[in-house]
Amino acid sequence: MSQQQFENFTASSLYCDKCKAAMPVRERLLLILPDKEVYDYLCTGCASSVGSREVTAGEKLMAQSMAKRRPRRAAVAPAPRIQL
Ligand SMILES: [Zn+2]
Repeated sequence: MSQQQFENFTASSLYCDKCKAAMPVRERLLLILPDKEVYDYLCTGCASSVGSREVTAGEKLMAQSMAKRRPRRAAVAPAPRIQL
């Protein structure tokens, strides 16, 4: 279940009617509303719109927190306390 949701969320290819195939898509920010953002998906083959997605404020926060959970740097380990 959660796997399916994750795949929907990060859709990078969608079926294009013109190309008659699943094509890689480009995400474009279409509209910004106070409580959500609307993204348009453009086919990279013919540049036609193949879909759109609405991201609510809650989803956006979740995506941001997920992105932050991929640290490039190792977490700073607390320095060991040495008592002499
Ligand atoms: Zn296309």
